[in-house]
Amino acid sequence: MEIIAIANQKGGVGKTTTAVNLAASLAAKRKHVLLIDLDPQGNATSGTGLDKNDLELTMADVLLDGVSLSDAIERSPAGFDVIGANKELAGMDVTLMGHTNSHELFKTAVADLVSSQLKSSKDAYDYVIIDCAPSLNLLTINALVATDGVIIPMQCEYYALEGLADLSQTIERLTELNPKLHIRGVVRTLYDARNTLARDVSAELEAHFGDLMYKTLIPRNVRLAEAPAHGLPVIAYERWSKGARAYQKLAAEVIKQSR
Ligand code: ADP
Ligand code: MG
Repeated sequence: MEIIAIANQKGGVGKTTTAVNLAASLAAKRKHVLLIDLDPQGNATSGTGLDKNDLELTMADVLLDGVSLSDAIERSPAGFDVIGANKELAGMDVTLMGHTNSHELFKTAVADLVSSQLKSSKDAYDYVIIDCAPSLNLLTINALVATDGVIIPMQCEYYALEGLADLSQTIERLTELNPKLHIRGVVRTLYDARNTLARDVSAELEAHFGDLMYKTLIPRNVRLAEAPAHGLPVIAYERWSKGARAYQKLAAEVIKQSR
């Protein structure tokens, strides 16, 4: 089981779109996938067709009330498992402030999930994909403490690299607690090849990140923006769209890294 967090403290860079569509594309390649929403906005939850305000159990119950991850799992109509989130998760920073181990709650829950899957006859997950909030708050720290690799979606615009230092520093600092933690890859999102600035920034990112850059470019594609309104990953909404094909290519790259 590999745990991948999709993180970047900037909003609107395509984290949720990447989390949902990478999960769906991995599932389409017959991988056993669990998508976990760690953003109180709950966009990944509704993007997979679940009603975020009508869930039996969410990540708030897991992190604040000690409910086990396995009890909170829902099956998404899109063919993979999901644990949802909604605004109940928003108070976590305040509620857990000063708690000892507040940054390790999620890691403990994941360890329980792993051991329960080992004991039962259920197939273990190949990938657990975590959609993070646009912030380096306690929720994101919890994700990074439990994660093997981080995928950073980046939009190729002028301020793309701004704020990245904070994320890199946080990752660096957390490797003390979690030695496995590393940047698994950087993915260019909302890409428009006709835009000169986008091409320039893209080249700059390649120079900066080298082998950490995924070759797949996720184009700006209206189907990717429409699909969540239908509660579907793009692959189930319009299988042959550019957006759907790009996320399948990205999934292939992610699988290749696992070998
Ligand atoms: P984040 O989770 O980083 O805040 P989102 O994935 O929610 O970002 O994306 C922000 C907005 O941009 C959403 O409305 C989403 O539908 C849209 N979007 C994301 N990626 C693309 C893309 N490749 N093409 C078109 N629209 C996109
Ligand atoms: Mg998001």
